[in-house]
Amino acid sequence: MEMKPRPDLSIVIPLYNEEAVLPALVERLRSFMDRLSPLDAEIILADDHSSDRSPELLKNICRSDARFRYARLAKNSGSHVAILAGLAQARGECAVFLAADLQDPPELILQMLDLWRSGHHVVWAVREERAGISKADLFLANTFYRVLNLLGEVNLPPRGSDFALLDRKVVDALLKSAGSHPSVGGEIARLGFSSAQITYTKEKRAAGGSKWTLKKKLTAFADAFVSFSYAPLRAMSYLGMLFSLLGFMYALVVAVLRLMTRTPVQGWSSLIVVVLVLGGVQMMMLGVLGEYLWRTLEAARQRPIYFLEDTSEVDTAAADKQPRELGRRFGT
Ligand code: UDP
Ligand code: MG
Repeated sequence: MEMKPRPDLSIVIPLYNEEAVLPALVERLRSFMDRLSPLDAEIILADDHSSDRSPELLKNICRSDARFRYARLAKNSGSHVAILAGLAQARGECAVFLAADLQDPPELILQMLDLWRSGHHVVWAVREERAGISKADLFLANTFYRVLNLLGEVNLPPRGSDFALLDRKVVDALLKSAGSHPSVGGEIARLGFSSAQITYTKEKRAAGGSKWTLKKKLTAFADAFVSFSYAPLRAMSYLGMLFSLLGFMYALVVAVLRLMTRTPVQGWSSLIVVVLVLGGVQMMMLGVLGEYLWRTLEAARQRPIYFLEDTSEVDTAAADKQPRELGRRFGT
Protein backbone atom coordinates (compact mmCIF):
# COMPACT_ATOMS: atom_id res chain seq x y z
CA MET A 1 0.00 0.00 0.00
CA GLU A 2 1.40 3.40 -1.00
CA MET A 3 1.54 5.93 1.82
CA LYS A 4 1.37 9.69 1.71
CA PRO A 5 4.44 11.31 3.25
CA ARG A 6 2.25 12.31 6.18
CA PRO A 7 -0.54 10.01 7.28
CA ASP A 8 -3.49 11.64 9.03
CA LEU A 9 -2.96 9.74 12.25
CA SER A 10 -0.13 7.88 13.96
CA ILE A 11 -0.98 5.34 16.63
CA VAL A 12 1.90 4.70 18.99
CA ILE A 13 1.84 1.55 21.07
CA PRO A 14 4.45 0.75 23.72
CA LEU A 15 4.95 -2.99 24.11
CA TYR A 16 6.84 -5.06 26.59
CA ASN A 17 6.57 -8.84 26.43
CA GLU A 18 3.08 -8.72 24.98
CA GLU A 19 3.19 -11.80 22.73
CA ALA A 20 -0.01 -13.11 24.29
CA VAL A 21 -2.03 -10.08 23.34
CA LEU A 22 -0.56 -9.40 19.88
CA PRO A 23 -2.99 -11.36 17.68
CA ALA A 24 -6.02 -9.72 19.33
CA LEU A 25 -4.36 -6.31 19.18
CA VAL A 26 -3.50 -6.49 15.52
CA GLU A 27 -6.94 -7.71 14.55
CA ARG A 28 -8.61 -4.95 16.53
CA LEU A 29 -6.33 -2.30 15.01
CA ARG A 30 -6.89 -3.56 11.49
CA SER A 31 -10.65 -3.40 11.79
CA PHE A 32 -10.36 0.00 13.45
CA MET A 33 -8.31 1.31 10.53
CA ASP A 34 -10.97 0.09 8.14
CA ARG A 35 -13.55 2.11 10.01
CA LEU A 36 -11.24 5.09 9.89
CA SER A 37 -11.09 5.43 6.11
CA PRO A 38 -10.88 7.73 4.21
CA LEU A 39 -8.42 8.86 6.88
CA ASP A 40 -5.25 6.84 6.83
CA ALA A 41 -3.29 5.79 9.87
CA GLU A 42 0.12 4.34 10.57
CA ILE A 43 0.83 2.24 13.60
CA ILE A 44 4.12 2.45 15.40
CA LEU A 45 4.95 -0.52 17.53
CA ALA A 46 7.49 0.68 20.10
CA ASP A 47 9.05 -2.48 21.48
CA ASP A 48 10.44 -1.72 24.92
CA HIS A 49 13.12 -4.40 24.53
CA SER A 50 10.80 -7.38 24.97
CA SER A 51 12.47 -10.66 25.81
CA ASP A 52 9.68 -12.95 24.59
CA ARG A 53 8.72 -13.69 20.99
CA SER A 54 7.19 -10.21 20.47
CA PRO A 55 10.00 -8.83 18.25
CA GLU A 56 9.71 -11.67 15.77
CA LEU A 57 5.91 -11.47 15.69
CA LEU A 58 5.93 -7.69 15.40
CA LYS A 59 8.36 -7.70 12.52
CA ASN A 60 6.24 -10.25 10.71
CA ILE A 61 3.23 -7.98 11.09
CA CYS A 62 5.19 -5.06 9.64
CA ARG A 63 6.36 -7.15 6.70
CA SER A 64 2.83 -8.16 5.81
CA ASP A 65 1.16 -4.77 6.35
CA ALA A 66 2.87 -1.52 5.38
CA ARG A 67 0.72 0.48 7.78
CA PHE A 68 2.61 -1.05 10.70
CA ARG A 69 6.12 0.08 11.66
CA TYR A 70 8.45 -1.28 14.25
CA ALA A 71 11.08 0.29 16.50
CA ARG A 72 12.93 -1.56 19.24
CA LEU A 73 14.58 0.20 22.16
CA ALA A 74 18.10 -0.86 23.10
CA LYS A 75 16.96 -1.64 26.65
CA ASN A 76 13.81 -1.87 28.70
CA SER A 77 13.12 1.73 29.65
CA GLY A 78 9.50 1.81 30.77
CA SER A 79 6.44 2.74 28.77
CA HIS A 80 6.95 6.51 29.02
CA VAL A 81 10.25 6.35 27.19
CA ALA A 82 8.84 3.80 24.75
CA ILE A 83 5.98 6.18 23.97
CA LEU A 84 8.42 9.02 23.29
CA ALA A 85 10.49 6.76 21.05
CA GLY A 86 7.33 5.87 19.14
CA LEU A 87 6.26 9.51 18.89
CA ALA A 88 9.67 10.41 17.47
CA GLN A 89 8.96 7.94 14.66
CA ALA A 90 5.41 9.18 14.11
CA ARG A 91 4.76 11.13 10.93
CA GLY A 92 1.05 11.78 11.35
CA GLU A 93 -0.81 15.09 11.45
CA CYS A 94 -1.76 13.94 14.91
CA ALA A 95 -0.70 11.05 17.11
CA VAL A 96 -2.36 8.86 19.70
CA PHE A 97 -0.62 6.68 22.24
CA LEU A 98 -2.30 3.78 24.00
CA ALA A 99 -1.43 0.56 25.81
CA ALA A 100 -1.02 -2.71 23.95
CA ASP A 101 -3.32 -4.72 26.18
CA LEU A 102 -6.58 -3.31 24.74
CA GLN A 103 -7.62 -1.89 28.10
CA ASP A 104 -8.01 1.35 26.21
CA PRO A 105 -10.46 0.76 23.34
CA PRO A 106 -8.96 2.04 20.04
CA GLU A 107 -12.48 2.86 18.79
CA LEU A 108 -12.47 5.81 21.18
CA ILE A 109 -9.98 7.47 18.82
CA LEU A 110 -12.89 8.35 16.51
CA GLN A 111 -14.38 10.63 19.17
CA MET A 112 -10.94 11.97 19.99
CA LEU A 113 -10.41 12.87 16.34
CA ASP A 114 -13.67 14.83 16.35
CA LEU A 115 -12.47 16.90 19.28
CA TRP A 116 -9.11 17.40 17.59
CA ARG A 117 -10.81 18.61 14.42
CA SER A 118 -12.85 21.08 16.43
CA GLY A 119 -9.60 22.74 17.48
CA HIS A 120 -8.25 21.03 20.58
CA HIS A 121 -4.55 20.28 20.42
CA VAL A 122 -4.58 17.70 23.17
CA VAL A 123 -7.41 15.25 23.75
CA TRP A 124 -7.16 13.24 26.96
CA ALA A 125 -9.00 9.98 27.28
CA VAL A 126 -9.58 9.73 30.99
CA ARG A 127 -10.64 6.45 32.54
CA GLU A 128 -13.52 6.52 34.91
CA GLU A 129 -12.96 5.39 38.45
CA ARG A 130 -13.20 1.66 38.66
CA ALA A 131 -16.48 0.46 40.12
CA GLY A 132 -14.81 -1.95 42.55
CA ILE A 133 -12.77 0.68 44.35
CA SER A 134 -13.80 1.45 47.94
CA LYS A 135 -14.97 4.89 49.07
CA ALA A 136 -11.98 5.25 51.38
CA ASP A 137 -9.51 4.39 48.63
CA LEU A 138 -11.20 6.81 46.28
CA PHE A 139 -11.09 9.56 48.88
CA LEU A 140 -7.40 8.93 49.53
CA ALA A 141 -6.55 8.89 45.85
CA ASN A 142 -8.49 12.11 45.23
CA THR A 143 -6.99 13.91 48.20
CA PHE A 144 -3.56 12.83 47.14
CA TYR A 145 -4.13 14.11 43.64
CA ARG A 146 -5.43 17.44 44.90
CA VAL A 147 -2.51 17.89 47.26
CA LEU A 148 -0.05 17.16 44.46
CA ASN A 149 -1.81 19.58 42.18
CA LEU A 150 -1.74 22.24 44.86
CA LEU A 151 1.93 21.74 45.73
CA GLY A 152 3.18 21.23 42.21
CA GLU A 153 4.43 24.08 40.09
CA VAL A 154 2.30 22.95 37.15
CA ASN A 155 -1.07 21.42 36.59
CA LEU A 156 -1.06 17.66 36.60
CA PRO A 157 -2.55 15.74 33.71
CA PRO A 158 -6.11 14.54 34.30
CA ARG A 159 -6.33 11.54 36.60
CA GLY A 160 -5.91 8.18 34.95
CA SER A 161 -4.86 9.34 31.51
CA ASP A 162 -2.44 7.07 29.77
CA PHE A 163 -4.28 7.41 26.51
CA ALA A 164 -4.26 10.70 24.61
CA LEU A 165 -4.30 12.29 21.20
CA LEU A 166 -1.78 14.99 20.35
CA ASP A 167 -1.65 17.45 17.51
CA ARG A 168 1.56 17.48 15.44
CA LYS A 169 2.57 20.76 17.16
CA VAL A 170 2.28 19.11 20.56
CA VAL A 171 4.24 16.04 19.45
CA ASP A 172 7.09 18.24 18.27
CA ALA A 173 7.00 20.32 21.44
CA LEU A 174 6.96 17.23 23.61
CA LEU A 175 9.96 15.71 21.86
CA LYS A 176 11.89 18.92 22.34
CA SER A 177 11.13 19.27 26.02
CA ALA A 178 10.93 15.83 27.63
CA GLY A 179 13.59 15.45 30.30
CA SER A 180 15.70 12.47 31.22
CA HIS A 181 13.02 10.81 33.37
CA PRO A 182 9.97 11.68 31.38
CA SER A 183 6.47 11.28 32.66
CA VAL A 184 4.52 11.65 29.44
CA GLY A 185 1.19 12.86 30.82
CA GLY A 186 2.90 15.41 33.03
CA GLU A 187 5.11 16.71 30.26
CA ILE A 188 2.08 17.22 28.04
CA ALA A 189 0.20 19.04 30.80
CA ARG A 190 3.22 21.23 31.36
CA LEU A 191 3.38 22.27 27.71
CA GLY A 192 -0.01 23.94 27.78
CA PHE A 193 -2.02 23.89 24.50
CA SER A 194 -5.80 23.83 24.47
CA SER A 195 -7.07 20.48 25.62
CA ALA A 196 -10.27 18.51 25.94
CA GLN A 197 -11.20 15.33 27.80
CA ILE A 198 -13.41 12.39 27.20
CA THR A 199 -14.03 9.64 29.69
CA TYR A 200 -14.19 5.92 29.14
CA THR A 201 -14.24 2.77 31.18
CA LYS A 202 -11.06 0.79 31.20
CA GLU A 203 -11.57 -2.73 29.99
CA LYS A 204 -9.98 -5.90 31.32
CA ARG A 205 -6.57 -6.78 29.95
CA ALA A 206 -7.11 -8.81 26.77
CA ALA A 207 -4.35 -11.30 27.58
CA GLY A 208 -1.18 -11.64 29.63
CA GLY A 209 -0.44 -9.92 32.94
CA SER A 210 0.41 -6.35 33.91
CA LYS A 211 3.92 -5.39 32.93
CA TRP A 212 4.21 -2.83 35.67
CA THR A 213 5.94 -4.19 38.71
CA LEU A 214 5.60 -2.36 42.01
CA LYS A 215 9.20 -1.22 41.62
CA LYS A 216 8.48 0.33 38.21
CA LYS A 217 5.37 2.04 39.60
CA LEU A 218 7.28 3.52 42.53
CA THR A 219 10.00 4.79 40.22
CA ALA A 220 7.44 6.33 37.90
CA PHE A 221 5.77 8.00 40.85
CA ALA A 222 9.03 9.44 42.18
CA ASP A 223 9.91 10.70 38.70
CA ALA A 224 6.53 12.37 38.30
CA PHE A 225 6.69 13.89 41.76
CA VAL A 226 10.20 15.25 41.52
CA SER A 227 9.66 16.68 38.08
CA PHE A 228 6.45 18.48 38.98
CA SER A 229 6.92 19.64 42.49
CA TYR A 230 9.52 21.47 44.47
CA ALA A 231 7.37 21.10 47.56
CA PRO A 232 9.67 18.56 49.26
CA LEU A 233 12.52 21.09 49.12
CA ARG A 234 10.29 23.75 50.62
CA ALA A 235 9.05 21.30 53.24
CA MET A 236 12.64 20.69 54.28
CA SER A 237 13.16 24.37 55.05
CA TYR A 238 9.94 24.53 57.05
CA LEU A 239 10.81 21.39 58.95
CA GLY A 240 14.21 22.85 59.74
CA MET A 241 12.60 26.03 61.09
CA LEU A 242 10.14 24.05 63.15
CA PHE A 243 12.91 21.99 64.71
CA SER A 244 15.06 24.99 65.60
CA LEU A 245 12.04 26.70 67.13
CA LEU A 246 11.34 23.63 69.25
CA GLY A 247 15.03 23.52 70.14
CA PHE A 248 15.04 27.10 71.41
CA MET A 249 11.89 26.53 73.42
CA TYR A 250 13.35 23.47 75.04
CA ALA A 251 16.57 25.35 75.80
CA LEU A 252 14.49 27.92 77.68
CA VAL A 253 12.75 25.20 79.66
CA VAL A 254 16.07 23.64 80.60
CA ALA A 255 17.55 26.96 81.69
CA VAL A 256 14.54 27.88 83.80
CA LEU A 257 14.42 24.45 85.44
CA ARG A 258 18.12 24.65 86.25
CA LEU A 259 17.73 28.08 87.90
CA MET A 260 14.54 27.32 89.77
CA THR A 261 15.12 23.81 91.06
CA ARG A 262 18.85 23.19 91.46
CA THR A 263 18.50 19.60 90.26
CA PRO A 264 20.09 19.20 86.86
CA VAL A 265 17.82 17.87 84.10
CA GLN A 266 18.00 14.09 83.74
CA GLY A 267 19.96 13.41 80.62
CA TRP A 268 20.39 10.16 78.76
CA SER A 269 16.89 9.27 77.53
CA SER A 270 15.93 12.70 76.28
CA LEU A 271 19.33 13.18 74.71
CA ILE A 272 19.27 9.94 72.78
CA VAL A 273 15.73 10.62 71.54
CA VAL A 274 16.73 14.03 70.26
CA VAL A 275 19.85 12.68 68.60
CA LEU A 276 17.96 9.88 66.85
CA VAL A 277 15.04 12.01 65.71
CA LEU A 278 17.24 14.79 64.42
CA GLY A 279 19.60 12.32 62.77
CA GLY A 280 16.67 10.64 61.00
CA VAL A 281 15.18 13.89 59.81
CA GLN A 282 18.53 15.04 58.49
CA MET A 283 19.08 11.81 56.61
CA MET A 284 15.62 12.11 55.07
CA MET A 285 16.34 15.66 53.98
CA LEU A 286 19.61 14.57 52.43
CA GLY A 287 17.71 11.89 50.55
CA VAL A 288 15.23 14.42 49.19
CA LEU A 289 18.05 16.74 48.18
CA GLY A 290 19.76 13.81 46.53
CA GLU A 291 16.68 12.99 44.43
CA TYR A 292 16.68 16.48 42.97
CA LEU A 293 20.45 16.68 42.65
CA TRP A 294 20.63 13.34 40.88
CA ARG A 295 18.09 14.47 38.32
CA THR A 296 19.95 17.72 37.86
CA LEU A 297 23.08 15.73 37.13
CA GLU A 298 21.27 13.54 34.64
CA ALA A 299 19.82 16.58 32.93
CA ALA A 300 23.20 18.28 32.81
CA ARG A 301 24.71 15.28 31.07
CA GLN A 302 22.27 15.69 28.17
CA ARG A 303 22.42 12.09 27.12
CA PRO A 304 19.80 10.78 24.74
CA ILE A 305 17.14 9.04 26.78
CA TYR A 306 17.02 5.96 24.57
CA PHE A 307 18.66 4.32 21.61
CA LEU A 308 16.97 2.25 18.96
CA GLU A 309 18.36 -1.18 18.37
CA ASP A 310 16.23 -2.18 15.42
CA THR A 311 13.60 -0.61 13.17
CA SER A 312 11.44 -1.94 10.40
CA GLU A 313 12.98 0.66 8.13
CA VAL A 314 15.82 3.14 8.25
CA ASP A 315 14.37 6.54 9.04
CA THR A 316 17.32 8.74 9.83
CA ALA A 317 15.25 11.92 9.87
CA ALA A 318 13.05 10.52 12.65
CA ALA A 319 16.04 9.22 14.57
CA ASP A 320 17.43 12.76 14.66
CA LYS A 321 14.27 14.04 16.29
CA GLN A 322 14.55 12.22 19.58
CA PRO A 323 14.82 14.40 22.68
CA ARG A 324 18.27 15.49 23.83
CA GLU A 325 20.00 14.61 20.67
CA LEU A 326 23.75 14.50 21.04
CA GLY A 327 24.17 17.27 18.50
CA ARG A 328 22.74 19.77 20.92
CA ARG A 329 25.81 19.41 23.08
CA PHE A 330 27.91 20.87 20.32
CA GLY A 331 25.54 23.73 19.79
CA THR A 332 24.11 22.54 16.49
N1 UDP B 1 5.04 -1.34 28.98
C1 UDP B 1 6.27 -0.97 28.40
N2 UDP B 1 7.40 -1.11 29.16
C2 UDP B 1 7.39 -1.55 30.45
C3 UDP B 1 6.13 -1.88 31.02
C4 UDP B 1 4.99 -1.76 30.26
O1 UDP B 1 6.33 -0.56 27.26
O2 UDP B 1 8.45 -1.65 31.05
C5 UDP B 1 3.82 -1.20 28.16
C6 UDP B 1 2.95 -2.44 28.15
O3 UDP B 1 3.36 -3.36 27.17
C7 UDP B 1 1.58 -1.85 27.85
C8 UDP B 1 1.63 -0.49 28.54
O4 UDP B 1 3.01 -0.21 28.74
O5 UDP B 1 1.38 -1.65 26.47
C9 UDP B 1 0.87 -0.48 29.83
O6 UDP B 1 1.34 -1.54 30.64
P1 UDP B 1 0.38 -2.49 31.47
O7 UDP B 1 -0.88 -2.72 30.73
O8 UDP B 1 1.18 -3.69 31.83
O9 UDP B 1 0.13 -1.57 32.74
P2 UDP B 1 -1.22 -1.44 33.61
O10 UDP B 1 -2.37 -1.41 32.65
O11 UDP B 1 -1.23 -2.61 34.49
O12 UDP B 1 -1.01 -0.14 34.32
MG1 MG C 1 -2.77 -2.36 31.08
